[in-house]
Amino acid sequence: MAATRIVQVLIDGATSDLVFSYTVPEGTTVTAGQRVRVPLRNRKAVGTVISVEMKDTVPSAYQLKPILGVVAKDAFLTPGLMKLAAWIAEFYLAPIETVIRSMIPKPSRGEKEERKTAKFVELAKGIGEEVIAQFSARQARQKAAVEILLSSSPLLLRDLVEEHGIPRSSITALERANLIKVFDQVVTRDPMEHIEFVPSAPLRLNEEQALALDRVLTSAHQWQSGEKARPILLHGITGSGKTEVYLQAIQKMVEEGKGAIVLVPEIALTPQTADRFKQRFAHIKESVAILHSNLSERERHDEWRKVLDHKARIVIGARSAIFSPIQNLGLIVVDEEHENSYKQDTVPRYQARDIAVVRGQIEQCAVLLASATPSLESWQNAQTGKYELVTMSSRVDDRKLPLIRLIDMRDETRRNRSGPAILSLKLRTAMEQRLASGQQIILFLNRRGFARSILCPECGYVATCRHCSTTMVLHRKEDKLICHICGFAQLPPKICPECSSRGILTSGWGTERAEDVLRQVFPHARICRVDTDVMRRKDQLRDTLNAFRTGKIDILLGTQMIAKGLDFPNVTLVGVLNADVGLHIPDIRASERTFQLLTQVAGRAGRGELEGEVVVQTFTPHHPAIQYARHHNFLGFAEYELGLRRHFEHPPFSHLVLITSRSVHEERARFSLKTLHSRLVEGLPEGVTVSDPLPSPLVKSHDQWRFQVVLKSKTARPMIRYIRSVLAKLTFPGDVFVTVDVNPYSMS
Ligand code: ADP
Ligand code: ZN
Ligand code: ZN
Repeated sequence: MAATRIVQVLIDGATSDLVFSYTVPEGTTVTAGQRVRVPLRNRKAVGTVISVEMKDTVPSAYQLKPILGVVAKDAFLTPGLMKLAAWIAEFYLAPIETVIRSMIPKPSRGEKEERKTAKFVELAKGIGEEVIAQFSARQARQKAAVEILLSSSPLLLRDLVEEHGIPRSSITALERANLIKVFDQVVTRDPMEHIEFVPSAPLRLNEEQALALDRVLTSAHQWQSGEKARPILLHGITGSGKTEVYLQAIQKMVEEGKGAIVLVPEIALTPQTADRFKQRFAHIKESVAILHSNLSERERHDEWRKVLDHKARIVIGARSAIFSPIQNLGLIVVDEEHENSYKQDTVPRYQARDIAVVRGQIEQCAVLLASATPSLESWQNAQTGKYELVTMSSRVDDRKLPLIRLIDMRDETRRNRSGPAILSLKLRTAMEQRLASGQQIILFLNRRGFARSILCPECGYVATCRHCSTTMVLHRKEDKLICHICGFAQLPPKICPECSSRGILTSGWGTERAEDVLRQVFPHARICRVDTDVMRRKDQLRDTLNAFRTGKIDILLGTQMIAKGLDFPNVTLVGVLNADVGLHIPDIRASERTFQLLTQVAGRAGRGELEGEVVVQTFTPHHPAIQYARHHNFLGFAEYELGLRRHFEHPPFSHLVLITSRSVHEERARFSLKTLHSRLVEGLPEGVTVSDPLPSPLVKSHDQWRFQVVLKSKTARPMIRYIRSVLAKLTFPGDVFVTVDVNPYSMS
């Protein structure tokens, strides 16, 4: 009798890890990491093959069923990724099934049959210009749709709706009147298909860049010759030409038949960044895949598929791109490695920068972490020699770092009693000068909306979200109070709901209010606001940035969407409207984030031939984060801040684990956490401390009450193992959710 192949399959979507054995029918090839369809009780399920064995005899007690088929003929996960999944599940206390699922883009997982079609719209046969006259005034939308189709047909139905704003109902009406045809057609969409790239030639590197490149290549070659190499931390100031170093290192890797992954923060994955890579490798067709959350599901699947099919050898992407199934990896780059968005805030709560280092070890490839303001974790690792430090301390062509001026807003507010000062006299004067000489300005404010909140000066009432415990933000255009946690919206009260006073006020301000003020002060300037409230359409950010680059906008006002990775030679003035946003919040990284943000924002000024200037408005001009940023002194800041962290035993000198219990029933959430806390205290290992059980800073969110404990230890592993063992012995009521966050970035 021929040997039987038996596979162990990890089932998708179960609350805990479920692994079952199945046989493989004759003629089907399966490998570990492949996705398969299997029978599970009375239904069908999808899962991942974790191992394949050959058995001469199958014990008859096991009535194994055969798998039903494969989702795709190739394995979605390489052996390296399977190892990485196990590592993540262990370290972040996550079910391995969730880890594996998060490694594969949702549309590619095979939960439903692959669909390669999309709906298109075209004009019906014989329909031409003359039809336009038929529409009545009430059919303006239908008319607009026909006009669009007259100039370009067929069009994706989705584009007609999303980009041209034609309602579905108008399309249906046109279809009923036999004026248009809607049909399905197979598509693979390249998100940048409409752009023609001219290959860009490598630049001549300066000395520092050449040295950095050499270090990266040496590291890659060390691994190839069987030696271990350390991850490299590249500390390069803004404008020092780090991207050019990545580009040339990747080029070398590709020439040697290897692949590369470049992680960029979601927010910095601007069209501009993606284009630079596409251009450099434009001579190799489909060589670059772009992965980020702004792509449609279809596009994400297509991009990822290019990697799986070995067409794309280079992946540029946000956090989850670290899981790209690139084989024969030569290099992983983490750009802006200090960025918080590398930390995932849902299960598995991994930190992609740390995962890059782990994957580098598994795949034996070079790892390059780079930033103008490295995270204190990485900086400390470079100090202890765990990472190799490479420095680029001058700007390309020795352009000067911009001069940073601090404006003390306490003085401004004292002088100006008519409300909150948004624009200081000095910033206003500087703006007038730049506008007069035709130069461009970026204004930065990390806060959306019109006013922060609505409050009653008589009784102290503040408008808070009824589902969360947060203050609601006034958005004046929509005339709504919006919760930035859950999105709940309501009409702003005209009289105080608590004491019926009519003196209800707005306080604090965001980008929307700032835009209003700017339009009053500079009525002739062309002003554009960039934040998540206005940038909703897919290509809108790209279009706006292009308009700014080509000089069609004078002042770009925005949140952190414009803080990073942008390079506009004609920008000579950058203003930070309120540097203190984010400084006075209960977060161990508040100073670090403020320092990083100011440095990044300042880096947007003076990128061209013209010298740049930065004006920072602040109520706390003497704060060390602001002072060190002003003097472009990362080393000074790192030393100061690490001193504090060491004293308080905060990360990077310790690891934290945040455990939260959530429930719609306040008492059950509180009680569950109390029980957990008492169990944790019982057998606490040496060197691990645990906080008292406390309400979370955000005590209610999405209608759920939240309570938390924080554990702390110099070494992570024993603490994590201990938490796992305690949790394994506890069960909680069905409506209580307990979540564990290892090395959390937000304590709320
Ligand atoms: P960083 O990523 O360090 O902020 P970039 O890589 O964006 O810096 O480089 C800043 C600018 O300098 C870019 O416009 C880039 O094209 C240019 N540049 C980089 N390296 C060189 C070089 N060796 N020679 C000339 N220009 C360069
Ligand atoms: Zn809310
Ligand atoms: Zn009141």
